[in-house]
Amino acid sequence: MGNQWVGDNLYDVKVKNRSLVLRLLKKKGLLSRIDLARITGLTQPTITNIVNDLLAANLLREMGVSDTKAGRKPILLAMNDQAFYIIAIRFTRRGFSVALTDLGPNILFRRDSRYSLLENTDLALLELQKEFIHVLEYATQSLGLILGIGVSVPGPVDSDACTILAHPTFLRYRALDLRKYLREYDLPIFMMNDADAACLHETWSGQAKEVENMVYFMVGDEVGAGVLIGGKIYQGANRKSGEVGHTSVNIFGPRCVCGNYGCLEIYCSTYNLVEKAREIAWFGNSGYLKEVLEQEGRLEFHHLLEGARENDSTALQLLQLLGQYMGIGVVNLINLYDPEMIVIGGQAALAQEFIERSVKQVVEERLLYREYVHPRIHYSQWGDDVTLLGAATIVLDHFIAGELGRF
Ligand SMILES: [Zn+2]
Repeated sequence: MGNQWVGDNLYDVKVKNRSLVLRLLKKKGLLSRIDLARITGLTQPTITNIVNDLLAANLLREMGVSDTKAGRKPILLAMNDQAFYIIAIRFTRRGFSVALTDLGPNILFRRDSRYSLLENTDLALLELQKEFIHVLEYATQSLGLILGIGVSVPGPVDSDACTILAHPTFLRYRALDLRKYLREYDLPIFMMNDADAACLHETWSGQAKEVENMVYFMVGDEVGAGVLIGGKIYQGANRKSGEVGHTSVNIFGPRCVCGNYGCLEIYCSTYNLVEKAREIAWFGNSGYLKEVLEQEGRLEFHHLLEGARENDSTALQLLQLLGQYMGIGVVNLINLYDPEMIVIGGQAALAQEFIERSVKQVVEERLLYREYVHPRIHYSQWGDDVTLLGAATIVLDHFIAGELGRF
């Protein structure tokens, strides 16, 4: 594995340098030709050539002049996010979304479905085909500009075979090859576990643009992590790494769906937290939650947040507990990886105002090297959409690496 023995020919060098310029502009925003030469160490004529090629390919835009005091003011460049488009698909335990994005990635059009692969795989796949066509129809003017399809999945994938692998809380019994459901226009398909995709998104568009070592701790219906080591997503030998949700934090705890006991996911997935809230509400110990349950017949994570904002003591206690268990997860992840930054994402990040203090406290009390190690803990700003944007980012990442033959 790996490509450490492969050399670069002249064409590769050209693509590599264009890729470098695009990567810089994407991550750092507006830069002049002089900035690009200074940062990359390439000569000014080389940068001029690369920029001319990328302008001709409609991949860059000139955005006015920089605000320097003296001399001729250099023109600033930016990547043209509308040069190409991406189809993003993300699956969750409860359904899926299909979207058209630009290279931002910004969602331009989306279809959300409540058919889940877990409950009725065949029906969900029929719907997937339908929604995929819907999105293609929306993009009908720009079909030639669609780079590919990015797919994020809350479970294991075999991305080379475009296949979702079976998983107890997501897809039972069988592996699922997505190619035959997404075959129109023969677009390339790229897949990732959703925590890895979210982690990748954070490095392109979020708070980890300049970071080389980072852990994205995703807490939602499932609990997992995307791990960035030396600027690359670490996926492991079988691309199954980052399953922090299935590290046992209580060996005498209840049996987990994975077969292990007392897994972290049992204590801090939002799914299990809502189950617990439902139980408490049902027995009448919470005014607010009981009211919601009686009026709406269901309880969801956002009800807990609303309850906490209404000062409902059960909701506040449950969220505090969530923060404490998440703190345990954060401590384990920092002890394992010594990252520069932890980004907390997924549905639980929406509860930042209620969990932040508990997470911080647990980290301060329990981290092994707490006297020397002070990693930054951030909360993802993308909310629930991070895995959909992450799906688009998988394609963006391949595109900017020059692997799609578009520049
Ligand atoms: Zn487990």
